[in-house]
Amino acid sequence: MDCLFCKIIAGEIPSAKVYEDEMVYAFKDISPIAPIHYLIIPKVHISGASAIDESNSKYVAHIFEVAAKIAADEGFADGYRVITNCGEDAGQSVHHLHFHVLAGKKMGWSADSGV
Ligand code: 5GP
Ligand code: ZN
Repeated sequence: MDCLFCKIIAGEIPSAKVYEDEMVYAFKDISPIAPIHYLIIPKVHISGASAIDESNSKYVAHIFEVAAKIAADEGFADGYRVITNCGEDAGQSVHHLHFHVLAGKKMGWSADSGV
């Protein structure tokens, strides 16, 4: 499968690792929109949020656990945001489920990301 994030998980494309365990991989976004901008992805290929079902939702739960752990470890004392873009209207550009973790600035709120 020709998937950018599967290649990153496999180490075929370099990335700046933030966290890794048997289920998920977290790394720095190549084009950050906040002072801290990480991506957390499942190590299995899931095309996006619309493909989450009872067979794979454990990855989503774990991704939120990992986001909380990273936030605690790195001291995002003033908060953080977790976002996933799903489909064309939301601007999803990589079709492997990923959650953006944003922190390090006071964020606004709008449908155009609010950052
Ligand atoms: P989306 O637009 O699908 O919600 O998010 C995809 C994200 O992947 C974007 O924020 C983009 O900057 C990031 N991205 C795209 N290609 C690469 C890459 O090769 N390496 C890393 N670290 N991030 C990437
Ligand atoms: Zn993939």
